[in-house]
Amino acid sequence: VAGYVGIDTLQEQIRKKVLKRGFEFNIMVVGRSGLGKSTLINTLFKANVSLRSCSKSEEKVEIPKTTHVKSVSHVIEEKGVRLRLTVTDTPGFGDQINNDNCWLPVLDYINEQYENYLSEEQSVTRKKHIPDTRIHCCLYFISPTGHSLSPLDIEFMRRLDRCVNIVPVIAKADTLTIEERVGFKQRIKQDLANNGIRTYPMKELEEDPEETVTNNKIRELLPFAVVGSNQQYPNNGRTVYGRKTQWGLVEVENRSHCEFSDLRDMLIRTHMQDLVEVTRSVHYENFRQDRLASRRG
Ligand code: GDP
Ligand code: MG
Repeated sequence: VAGYVGIDTLQEQIRKKVLKRGFEFNIMVVGRSGLGKSTLINTLFKANVSLRSCSKSEEKVEIPKTTHVKSVSHVIEEKGVRLRLTVTDTPGFGDQINNDNCWLPVLDYINEQYENYLSEEQSVTRKKHIPDTRIHCCLYFISPTGHSLSPLDIEFMRRLDRCVNIVPVIAKADTLTIEERVGFKQRIKQDLANNGIRTYPMKELEEDPEETVTNNKIRELLPFAVVGSNQQYPNNGRTVYGRKTQWGLVEVENRSHCEFSDLRDMLIRTHMQDLVEVTRSVHYENFRQDRLASRRG
């Protein structure tokens, strides 16, 4: 065909490359224990991907009293696409009587991954593909108190937003009424704004007009009011993930029940690549420049 260059094959080329290696995505969950972090991760990836599922026996795993940052990797395949998913869990955070510096292990972990990446990049025998363990997204779980952010939430997020993409979520949203949710969300938004906490997708970054429309919708919805469940129930001839209570079934993927689907769509279906890209070009780049400057200085 005259004028045909063939760049339409690029998509297939990229696909093949990603298929071979697997797309790497690293997600971290932060928040008090018992807020449904493990459950939500399981619900998101429809597989037993959380840390708890990795314990060999069925016996209850003791929740450690100190903050323990732990990562577990999984390979998920769907229609020939391979995702190498790593979930980093931070169990027990905020449970101690003294929460001073409780964000340190989390920040240390994030920076350690940057450090490892940087040293690989600068190594003489640089690998063709450097394994990416950098955290691409940090889901921050907010307790469904109905009040506003706690001082600890604010402190924690203020320290995190410089090094990682933060996506705040209201945990266990089924425990709030619709009105409580609306007011709670407004107050959280206000708290985030008043404290200059930057959440993902960040307004400061350049976006094309199409992205701005999509991202404004997401920014409007934040923090996502989510419900997680590993239980499936029959519902109008289908089987759905949900939480059955005495007064009815809360459907995880029903958009009029909660915003789980909005979170899932953003993380997995529309913004996964962008989360990786922003991590590389903004957060990692900041780290890299600071690091190199301090070496020179
Ligand atoms: P984690 O400590 O943050 O990882 O919390 P888990 O995922 O282990 O969940 C703690 C408890 O909360 C379990 O009994 C879950 O069944 C329950 N749970 C998890 N997600 C939800 C939710 O969205 N709503 C409600 N009401 N309970 C939940
Ligand atoms: Mg857990």
